[in-house]
Amino acid sequence: MTDLKSMTLHEMRQALQALGQPAFRGKQVFTWLHRGVTSFDEMTDLPRSLRETLREHYTITAPKVARKQVSRIDGTIKYLWELGDGNCIETVLMQYHHGNTVCISSQVGCRMGCAFCASTIAGRVRDLTAAEMLDQVIFTQLDSGLPISNIVLMGIGEPLDNFDAVSRFLELVNAPEGMNIGMRHISLSTCGLVPGIRRLSELGWQLTLSVSLHAPDDQTRSRIMPVDRAYGVEELFQACHAYFQKTGRRISFEYALIDGVNDHDWQADLIAKKLKGMPGHVNLIPLNDVVESPLKPSKRLLAFQRRLESHGVTVTVRRSLGGDIDASCGQLRRKAMEEAEA
Ligand code: SAH
Repeated sequence: MTDLKSMTLHEMRQALQALGQPAFRGKQVFTWLHRGVTSFDEMTDLPRSLRETLREHYTITAPKVARKQVSRIDGTIKYLWELGDGNCIETVLMQYHHGNTVCISSQVGCRMGCAFCASTIAGRVRDLTAAEMLDQVIFTQLDSGLPISNIVLMGIGEPLDNFDAVSRFLELVNAPEGMNIGMRHISLSTCGLVPGIRRLSELGWQLTLSVSLHAPDDQTRSRIMPVDRAYGVEELFQACHAYFQKTGRRISFEYALIDGVNDHDWQADLIAKKLKGMPGHVNLIPLNDVVESPLKPSKRLLAFQRRLESHGVTVTVRRSLGGDIDASCGQLRRKAMEEAEA
């Protein structure tokens, strides 16, 4: 049985033509799926016999809400979804002035091993399919009743470690016949997989690339981010500069301040140096305290920000949402896993 929702409109047209159907049926089915129908019977403008044939050949993915937490502070909603095979992933819905933003997962777990991150503790179980990423957008919108205008690929997983499914998902969610979310309303965050950054730049899409930098020197970075041992800071910045040259899009560098590790003034100076020649932007994140980790939040956030700004670097500080609902970085999935083990 084939997962129908992961198909592009073009592929869906071909699939329906192969069943002896006119091409316009492809678009009908595509639109139904992207609206979140969970059975072929809901596709009421299709002949009954076609619905039956489709049911014989194809499946429709639909995650179930395993848990849902709503922040009393700011209305942030966190979903723990159960996928078709019983695996669970997280999606967070944040309400900003500029629109409702979903933060979606790209893998079940993660194999990048960053020292401060809860998503990677138990490793990667499997990649998500394009449909499973799209479902996070569709079903979060349906369940919450809040129209979604922005997407960030910053949930569980490393998107560039699942490149094909992620790029397919981006094409799907961008489709005018579906969710129609513009590339400029989408951010993709990577820990710094250089070949993936280069592949992405070839696509020339107008999405926002976020790079989780967290340290501008290999000594520190390789300690907290194993990916740095494969692709060092120098190589990473070369790829970032090339990305900017190719796409014209400003890159956002994520930087979670860790006490005594990456919060020294000389590191702020080094970041500024590395950014020369490109309109970079640094997003400082107060480190989320993960119980399993010995790394603690820095007390130098303001000083570090000032130091960066003294070099003319644009700095923002990430506002923390959903502080009362474990709304970050694989924490809810871990909690559910622990409870299941107990
Ligand atoms: N794998 C991708 C996307 C998922 S992580 C990436 O690495 O970018 C999303 C962001 O949260 C990344 O910038 C990541 O470094 C950051 N992050 C992970 N754990 C964190 C923590 N405990 N506190 C603050 N930020 C964290």
